[in-house]
Amino acid sequence: MMRGPLARYVATLNGLERKGRRRELVPHDGVDFTSNDYLRLANSTRIRSAIADALERGVAVGSGGSRLLRGNHPEHEALEAEAAIFFGTERALYFSSGYAANAALFSTLPQRGDLIVHDALIHASAHEGIAASRAEAVAARHNDADAFEEVIVSWRMKGGTGHPWIAVESLYSMDGDRAPLKELVELADRYDGFLVIDEAHATGVFGPHGRGLAAGMEGRDNIILLHTCGKALGVSGALVGANQVVCDYLVNRARGFIYSTAPSPLMAAAVREALRILAEEPERRAKFEQLWTFANAQLTVALGFEGSGSQILPILIGDNSRTMRIAACMREAGFDIRAIRPPTVPEGTARLRIAITLNVDRSAILRMFDALATVFCAEAA
Ligand code: PMP
Repeated sequence: MMRGPLARYVATLNGLERKGRRRELVPHDGVDFTSNDYLRLANSTRIRSAIADALERGVAVGSGGSRLLRGNHPEHEALEAEAAIFFGTERALYFSSGYAANAALFSTLPQRGDLIVHDALIHASAHEGIAASRAEAVAARHNDADAFEEVIVSWRMKGGTGHPWIAVESLYSMDGDRAPLKELVELADRYDGFLVIDEAHATGVFGPHGRGLAAGMEGRDNIILLHTCGKALGVSGALVGANQVVCDYLVNRARGFIYSTAPSPLMAAAVREALRILAEEPERRAKFEQLWTFANAQLTVALGFEGSGSQILPILIGDNSRTMRIAACMREAGFDIRAIRPPTVPEGTARLRIAITLNVDRSAILRMFDALATVFCAEAA
C-alpha cells in the first residue's frame, strides 16, 4: 500500500483498473477507424500549403496574448468574417477548442432564473459549462423532444420565469444519431427560449457545403451554433456562430475567452482554407457519404447490427472489460478501434466506436468487419 500525498490518487487509479475503466495513452497505430478526421483534411496538401503561405506572409506562430489584449490578429478576424458568411450567421467567434467554446457558452449565456434543459447524452464540455452556470439544469431523455417540453412545462409550472436553454448535439458523438432539430426549434420559439446546437460531428459532413445539420435554421436570434474545427475541418479550435449581441456578450463575459491566449493565427489561416475546401470540393463530401453509407450496410451484412445512418457506428457491448478485450484484439489485427466506456457513455453501455473517415476505403471496411466478426465468434466460443 502506498503512503503519502499520492496514495489517494493511486487508490483511485487502482479502483478504475478493477472496474475496467482505467485509461491509458497509447500511440496510434493501425488502420484509422477512430479519428474524427472525417474528410481526410488533417494532413491535406491544401491546408499544409495554406500554413506555409501564411508563414511566408509573415503570420506569427503564436498569438502573443488574449484576443482582448495583443492577441487579436487579422487572421482571426478574417476567419470569423468568412465563417459568418459560410455558416450564415451574423457573427462568428473563434475559440481555441470546442471544449473551451462549450464551457464558455453554457457558463456565460444562461442567467440566474433560466433553465438549461440538455440532452441526457450531451458532451462533457457542455457539462463543464452547465456546472459553472447559475441557471438550473435538467437532463431530458435522449432525442425525445416531448421530454424536453415536459421539463420546460414543469419548470414553468413551478414558477420558472426566465428563458429555457435547449442544449443538444446535432449528431451525437458516441451514438451517431441525429437530434430532432425541427421540433426543438419549435420548442425554443414556443417557450421564448434559446437553442444551442453543437454541430461538432456534423460540420463539414452534412448540409449544403457541409454547413451542418442546422443549415437553414441559422441566422435566428435564439439559435447558437457550435462548429468545431478539429474534426471534419482537420485543424483545431471552434467557431461559435450567433448574432452580434451574443458574440459581443461572450467577448465581454466569457472568462475562457477573455483570460486565455488566443489560438495560433496559423490555425486561423488553416481553418479558413478548410472552409474554402468545403465550398470548392463538394466531391469530397459526396465520396464520404458513399463510404459511410456503404459501412452502415456492411455492418448489417457482417454483424447483423443496424447502422446509425452516419459516419459514427457504435457497437454496443455493455461490459467494460469485454469491450476492452475486443478493441485490443482489433488493434492486434491492425485496425485502430477504441473501447468507449463509462463515464464517457452511460453505465452498462460500453461500446466500440467505429468512425468512418476518408482515411479508409471500402476494402479496408470489409476487412475490418471480417476481423470483427471473427473476434466476436472467438469470444462466443
Ligand atoms: N462537442 C462534441 C460533441 C465533441 O464530440 C467534442 C470533441 N470530442 C467537443 C465538443 C470538443 O471539441 P474539441 O475537441 O475541439 O475541444
